[in-house]
Amino acid sequence: MAATPQGTSIYLDHAATTPCDPRVVEAMLPYFTTFFGNPGSRNHRFGWEAESAVDEAREAVAALLGADEKEIIFTSGATEANNIAIKGGAYMYEKAPAGSGQCRGHIISCTIEHKAVLDPCKRLQKEGFEVTFLEPPADGIITAEMVKAAMREDTILVSIMWANNEIGTINEIPQIGALCHERDVLFHTDATQWAGKMPVDVQRDNIDLLSMSGHKIYGPKGVGALYVRRRRPRVRLQALMDGGGQERGFRPGTLNVTGIVGLGAAARIAREQMDADAQRLLALRRRLEERITSRLTNIQVNGHAEKRLPHISNISFAFVEGESLMMACKDIAVSSGSACTSASLEPSYVLKGLGVGDELAHSSLRMSLGRGTTQAEVDHAADLIVESVKRLRELSPLFDMYNEGIDLSKVEWGHH
Ligand SMILES: *Cc1c(COP(=O)(O)O)cnc(C)c1O
Repeated sequence: MAATPQGTSIYLDHAATTPCDPRVVEAMLPYFTTFFGNPGSRNHRFGWEAESAVDEAREAVAALLGADEKEIIFTSGATEANNIAIKGGAYMYEKAPAGSGQCRGHIISCTIEHKAVLDPCKRLQKEGFEVTFLEPPADGIITAEMVKAAMREDTILVSIMWANNEIGTINEIPQIGALCHERDVLFHTDATQWAGKMPVDVQRDNIDLLSMSGHKIYGPKGVGALYVRRRRPRVRLQALMDGGGQERGFRPGTLNVTGIVGLGAAARIAREQMDADAQRLLALRRRLEERITSRLTNIQVNGHAEKRLPHISNISFAFVEGESLMMACKDIAVSSGSACTSASLEPSYVLKGLGVGDELAHSSLRMSLGRGTTQAEVDHAADLIVESVKRLRELSPLFDMYNEGIDLSKVEWGHH
């Protein structure tokens, strides 16, 4: 029996993944069967057909970014693109060799990046690089000023995400890029939540390396791309894998032709539709937030009020328990402010990074809208959330105490 999603579920988790656009699937299908060749096969029609499909997809992704098609490397997703950019860049531009006892080079990133940036940076720290993780202010935005203040003589790489996946905040990417170019420092941005939804021009925006992913922009999972600047400056990277030399040696292995065709189709559609999508989703998100914030007290929308992606909303609800809130809202697919680590529920490090307390972080919801989201769904989700929060608060002794004017910060809690 095929797995069928719950009929009543409203999907508001597009920052986790998007469904494939049917036009993307249609573009991919012939490449499983009719045109199944290996683009590396240089001496027959099957190879040429696959190669030309990959070329077309490369042009579409390049056009989306304002890049040249020679600057696009296909990967298995944004995680791999980030690893190739950050580790490959650090190894290539290191100031001192491994084992010399000296700092191999200084890197600047940020505490609320995706794990796919944080973990490669932490690996480099263990290997003798020094990393400054910038701490964002409460609005979540990393400015060029902050990066400038962290710059050192031996800074070799800056990696700052374009827009945050949990709170949607938008960093000062073109300005950070300009600063890096002034100082001859390599600039990488994880643009997984931005590229394909908002305009990118790698020249105008001063970007050297940019990661993106298919499944966040209505393409398939397991495919992504890394933009690698080829001129002014020509960026070099040390390859992390060895093999058949595909993708200019940066990403050896037989190309994922169907996935790449899907990513190309998704990029083409994104370019045509992003303005209209963004406008519609901004209106829907405002409606969602308005319907929640106007009917509940003691809540906060996390991240900068305006400098946010149109489709992401992250709201903390005081006086409700995170798990109960998720249970009560199980008919809407959203993300919680808790991350499941191996044994326990940890509050989101992104919200903690903004200074949101553990309790409040646990009782937070990230709602991310997408191309298929309707106004009726938004209204229904908002109503369900408002009703659930009101009901849970009726059961909350803390909320009672708060309403009676008791200062909760002065209450002495028993240990258990
Ligand atoms: C989803 C996401 C990733 C990981 O992308 P994959 O293609 O799934 O590896 C990395 N960074 C950000 C900001 C993301 O949202």
